[in-house]
Amino acid sequence: MQLYNNLSAKERAELIEKAGKERLTISFYKYAKIGNPQIFRNHMFLAWDELDVLGRIYVAHEGINAQLSVPAENFEAFKNHLDTITFLENVRLNIAIEHDNFAFLKLKVKVRHKIVADGLNDDTFDVTNKGIHVDAQQFNALIEDPDTVLVDMRNHYESEIGHFKNAITPDVDTFRESLDLIEEDLKAHKEDKKLVMYCTGGIRCEKASAYYKHKGFKNVFQLEGGIINYTRQVEAEGLENKFIGKNFVFDQRRSERISNDVIANCHQCGKPADTHTNCANEACHLLFIQCDECKEKMENCCSSHCQEIIKLPYEEQKALRKGQGNSNDIFKKGRADHLPYKKDLRNIFENQSNTIL
Ligand SMILES: [Zn+2]
Ligand SMILES: [Zn+2]
Repeated sequence: MQLYNNLSAKERAELIEKAGKERLTISFYKYAKIGNPQIFRNHMFLAWDELDVLGRIYVAHEGINAQLSVPAENFEAFKNHLDTITFLENVRLNIAIEHDNFAFLKLKVKVRHKIVADGLNDDTFDVTNKGIHVDAQQFNALIEDPDTVLVDMRNHYESEIGHFKNAITPDVDTFRESLDLIEEDLKAHKEDKKLVMYCTGGIRCEKASAYYKHKGFKNVFQLEGGIINYTRQVEAEGLENKFIGKNFVFDQRRSERISNDVIANCHQCGKPADTHTNCANEACHLLFIQCDECKEKMENCCSSHCQEIIKLPYEEQKALRKGQGNSNDIFKKGRADHLPYKKDLRNIFENQSNTIL
């Protein structure tokens, strides 16, 4: 019985290429009590490996959070298998707007303490006392209401390339920071304003809405299925799309275009651009926005320093990296002093709050 991925990303990419079959990019989550996450994890891995499903999945005592790439021809079988699991029967599947056969190249099902790193102590509040779920049509009406405060529950590098018109987009690196910042900013309006929130697929709002209700907010709403589901709904029902720019996603695609507006700028030259890239220097790996011209000029690097490093022989690069730890811990996403055009979103946040409230 094979319980772990045994192909490299490169081997997998070759296989997908050769098969030439369409794959769907799907995400779903469910909060549910899972007694033994390890056994559940193994069960899911075996079933999905059989169906050639790839992706990144987190399983915990509190539920499951899955981002997947499923061969289109196996979609029915995949869905049928989910329906055999009581708490996943008819679970809402968020199907991506733009597909990419190479969105995921491995099947990784990991047991974690939580399915979202939310930094919350769930014992201190009732996580099941959630906000009111609204669909795209209700959401569109709600955000036109002058008593509504619309909050983006995602991080700065996500909202920078796309968000709903008039949303507050906190300049934060983590979900936890966001919760505190918003509470502080809106504390005088816990009863008179409608707090409407959204995120990528809805999962972050599940906790955030319960947390804010616990903190005394009286009118809390959340966008059902997040931006992904919203986009599908406005297309299907011919509603006005109030989202501008791109939806940041956590797979190889990095984003999917929702509207043609380019609302961000290249962090190196300031020109309109909204394509994220990771610095080619593996020791840096900084996530930042780079336009095509800078990409060429800088050879996919965030700085001339990194550009020099990638020209060194690989062994030398490795020696330099020694003892530096994980680059993701060292560098914050999209924040580095040498990037002149990284927007200071904190100021925007303050201005928005002043105008809205
Ligand atoms: Zn540029
Ligand atoms: Zn770099």
